[in-house]
Amino acid sequence: MNLWQNKPSIMKILCIGRNYAAHIQELKNEVPAEPVFFLKPDTALLRNNEAFYIPDFSKDVHHEVEIVLKISKRGKHIAEKFAPDYFNEIGIGIDFTARDLQSKLKEKGLPWEKAKAFDGSAPVSNFVSKSEFADLNNLNFSLKVNGTEVQKGNTSLMLHNFSKVISELSKYFTLNQGDLIFTGTPEGVAAVKAGDRLQAFIGDNMMLDFEVR
Ligand code: MG
Repeated sequence: MNLWQNKPSIMKILCIGRNYAAHIQELKNEVPAEPVFFLKPDTALLRNNEAFYIPDFSKDVHHEVEIVLKISKRGKHIAEKFAPDYFNEIGIGIDFTARDLQSKLKEKGLPWEKAKAFDGSAPVSNFVSKSEFADLNNLNFSLKVNGTEVQKGNTSLMLHNFSKVISELSKYFTLNQGDLIFTGTPEGVAAVKAGDRLQAFIGDNMMLDFEVR
């Protein structure tokens, strides 16, 4: 029996970076040959439209709106064709990123956790059944800041679709029921400031609505 089958299930947040070409361009990054993954701990989660507090170690915290998958059963080495069996619900979230810190860490080839995994860096919406959507590979989503649309994406523009992301992640990490996967952000990322109101949408449905403090 493999060891991973006996481990207790503690939720984790898995994220893919650089999954939308136009966002890669805006940050002047290279298109990666393989998906770029990073993790956030459960202490990064914000739920129920809790306010986000800008941490004092950054002067440039960016919003990144992303579709989020909720894993519905445990799996490892999941083949792409079976990946849809491993999530039943989707939501939307913000992958808050301390861009100033991240740029310094990237320059030095250091891990990104300080810039990506800090407390409150992962607000997520409620989750809805994926069966409510006609085509998960053609899903519009967007973010408004203070009533103005600033980010707009469609899942057809992902470099790695949901199945590919699940399959690739599960080569390295056992996926547990309740784990969340942030699937990448489209272009339009920018800094938030205290007093901003962020509203995230899947299609026309507002799923997330919270304040920055
Ligand atoms: Mg992101």
